[in-house]
Amino acid sequence: IVSVRNVSKSYRRGSQTVPVLENISFDIAAGEFLALMGPSGSGKSTLLNLIAGIDQVDTGTITIGGVEITTLADRELAAWRAAHVGFIFQFYNLMPVLTAFENVELPLLLTGLSRRERQEHVEMALSLVNLSDRLDHYPSQLSGGQQQRVAIARAVVTDPDILVADEPTGDLDRVSAGEILTLMDRLVHGFGKTIIMVTHDPKAAEKAHVIRNLEKGILAGGEG
Ligand code: ATP
Ligand code: MG
Repeated sequence: IVSVRNVSKSYRRGSQTVPVLENISFDIAAGEFLALMGPSGSGKSTLLNLIAGIDQVDTGTITIGGVEITTLADRELAAWRAAHVGFIFQFYNLMPVLTAFENVELPLLLTGLSRRERQEHVEMALSLVNLSDRLDHYPSQLSGGQQQRVAIARAVVTDPDILVADEPTGDLDRVSAGEILTLMDRLVHGFGKTIIMVTHDPKAAEKAHVIRNLEKGILAGGEG
């Protein structure tokens, strides 16, 4: 479903150009759970952001579900992203002044759904992550693991095909991390999602089907 071809990316730092990704090529099958590992600064988040269409390649192409996203104009790219990608972050990135329900509803406000339809979708997503009894709680009233589950509900509420997760268990204890991974596993096996997860945690990577390692912007194999 995802095809990355000869992708390179560098950042400008002052007068210098710092290469981050060098000629990366790989594929991700539909329904695959991929773990992306590698040392700090190796370019994992950069690669994830390129695939999610929130950053742009210098050279190379990324094709997802038949759409070459690297040639889309900004507006088209934003629309594509809203329809196809769900995001999960290390620090949850929930809005502190909104309840769990309202946080999960946010991505739906950009769609044409009625209030009633939105409510149904939000309740379904929060039930999927086992938080039906926490709809009116604010993030500060939830544990880290619960906040991450709200974030996962928000990521899936629009029914995207692809989930990108940047160290989703990086801020959690072992038990909560395990719950998040079990949930991600269910999203792959029960709902056919494709997941690309950056992680430093070998235990987290064990749950994935495929593990790939980035070293200084170069991708090494390592099928799991
Ligand atoms: P970590 O495991 O610490 O999260 P990472 O593998 O995700 O690391 P990236 O965040 O992709 O690494 O960063 C790779 C390199 O690119 C780093 O040297 C970083 O400083 C640089 N970099 C990342 N984003 C930018 C940016 N927006 N502008 C300039 N340099 C950047
Ligand atoms: Mg990173």
